[in-house]
Amino acid sequence: MRKFIKPKVIVSKCIGFEACRYNGLIIKSDFVEKLKEYVDFYPVCPEVEIGLGIPRDPIRIIELGGELRLYQPATGLDITDKMKKFTQNFLDEIDDIAGFILKNRSPSCGIKAVKVYHGFKNSRTKSRAGFFGNAILERFPYLAVEDEGRLRNLKIRENFLTKLYILADLRKVKKSRSLNELIKFHSHNKMLLMAYNQENTRKLGRIIGNADKNTFEDLISKYQTVFYDIILESPQNTTNINVLMHALGYFSKELTHDEKAFFLDSVEKYRNGIFPLFVCLNILKSWIIRFNNEYLMDQTFFEPYPEELIPITVV
Ligand code: SF4
Repeated sequence: MRKFIKPKVIVSKCIGFEACRYNGLIIKSDFVEKLKEYVDFYPVCPEVEIGLGIPRDPIRIIELGGELRLYQPATGLDITDKMKKFTQNFLDEIDDIAGFILKNRSPSCGIKAVKVYHGFKNSRTKSRAGFFGNAILERFPYLAVEDEGRLRNLKIRENFLTKLYILADLRKVKKSRSLNELIKFHSHNKMLLMAYNQENTRKLGRIIGNADKNTFEDLISKYQTVFYDIILESPQNTTNINVLMHALGYFSKELTHDEKAFFLDSVEKYRNGIFPLFVCLNILKSWIIRFNNEYLMDQTFFEPYPEELIPITVV
């Protein structure tokens, strides 16, 4: 059983922590509720932080003279500069964060599909990320950043959680300043990283191979640069399938024809979006245990995040 480190996650405070929305309400998220046991949450409400009350008149993003502004129509207040200043200070201060869960479509917290209005008119021009959300995406493109709306999708949730826990592990290695820990990290995450990007995973292998020519600081910095590049894009069904098939190879002589056919059928169902990935992973896990394969047992690919977080239905 993999031992998980609790990742640090910043969350929009209105998602299950405080009734701080403009209308004085709180958002219910079963996923965030469930996650409370497995991550360290740091809730923040940027609008309250810049001095807006609860409840308050809603704010919106407007495009004025080619510039985007954060504006409160009912009061005529322009809070763009306050929000930018708060965001910069806040993001300068945070440390060791693995991810963010942000309220969707908020002009402050949203990471996409936030309405932008045409000046002071009620017509919309386009959509984009909110002021706080956008700054996070720009500054931390490699972290796990999602909104609670998108996290209702199982695949997005799987990718988000996978990234959260691998980032928390890498941070622990960094803090340990131990080459052995880095080697162990790389070896345990090899198959998972392969699912992200084979070529860059080999590059990481070469960086580890040249470990003796570097100080730990140089080494981890080189490793981290390539690692962040790898996790920028989520694994695809096809790359996950490549790794599943590679893992099957470890048992091909021991399995019956029917067992293999059953597995291949599940892989096809995963390819076609009928099964989630963890169905295939669970079949492989049962064989890892049965044949006591120590190498695969240590691979995070088979248990990328705590299995209690797997449930398919999330409200
Ligand atoms: S979306 Fe962000 S700014 Fe708006 S209430 Fe929630 S935490 Fe506050």
